[in-house]
Amino acid sequence: MWEAEPGTFAGGTATQIDERIWAIDLGFQGWDQVIHAYLLTAPDELALIETGPTTTLPALRAGIQAAGFDPARLTSILLTHIHLDHAGAAGTIVREQPDVRVFVHPVGAPHLVDPSRLVKSASRLYGDRMDALWGAVAAVPADRVVPLADGETLGVAGHVLSALYTPGHASHHVAYWDPDLAAIFTGDAGGVRMPGSAYALPPAPPPDLAPDEWAVSTERLRQTGAQRLVLTHGGPFEDVAEHLDQLMPNLSEVEEICRAAMSAGADDVEVTALLQAHTERRLGFPAVTVPGIVQRYGWASPSFLSALGFRRLLTRRGDVPALEQTDRQG
Ligand SMILES: [Zn+2]
Repeated sequence: MWEAEPGTFAGGTATQIDERIWAIDLGFQGWDQVIHAYLLTAPDELALIETGPTTTLPALRAGIQAAGFDPARLTSILLTHIHLDHAGAAGTIVREQPDVRVFVHPVGAPHLVDPSRLVKSASRLYGDRMDALWGAVAAVPADRVVPLADGETLGVAGHVLSALYTPGHASHHVAYWDPDLAAIFTGDAGGVRMPGSAYALPPAPPPDLAPDEWAVSTERLRQTGAQRLVLTHGGPFEDVAEHLDQLMPNLSEVEEICRAAMSAGADDVEVTALLQAHTERRLGFPAVTVPGIVQRYGWASPSFLSALGFRRLLTRRGDVPALEQTDRQG
């Protein structure tokens, strides 16, 4: 069902984006820019914002080394949310490095300690591609998980970060606000945007998708006065107002396409094709001609996931008729 092809980029590169902060490109599915982890460094502390999935752990470690640091010295992991493309490797890392602490919103914490429900629901979405995409999903021991509530401030690796509760994409999503750098590590709350395009695409997977909450979260991001948005999927961008302004209208466009097609009886394959075509149209010319850009958007925010996210949301609201269960594997 995945519409994008793999590329050939191995990942493991480190780009310094600020004092003592590196963007590590994980080379997910052979493409650059699709998933980043951010490395925060101090003389005796190393922290990561996001880990990426277990399949890209070698690239994560290579990237930490490329930045000039020893991955064995990692002390903290800050997760924006527990989706496998952001957090899948956390348990495997802590298993090998038991001193590492993992920060996550309280609602996400139990699913790190016991990932069985997370794995089960992801398996429904990804079927037999589960392992190839994400690899092992190991539990994080409970005493290594630190729940981080809205507004809590955290001193980590020489940076002071505040957790901003930003649901909408996931019910337990937090973004990390660094007032000294005037930067927000947005996770998925800031959408997906690949260099070469101005198009910010909000990824809309099941089961938590909540556009109304996402709109409130977008306002929270705006109210920080940030001068830089640091996206997990796409890297840093400085046109903060323009980026945030388009986020909710872009989500509404996707919602309207889903509502119209589903009301007319379209199945998930048909809706996926419509959303894929919509992304390409919205990239516009000349961005759509940047080599690999369509694939990068496709891997970072798969159209089939947004189709399923809106199917669930709109069906529950009674906006579209329920669909008979279809085979979602393949
Ligand atoms: Zn996510």
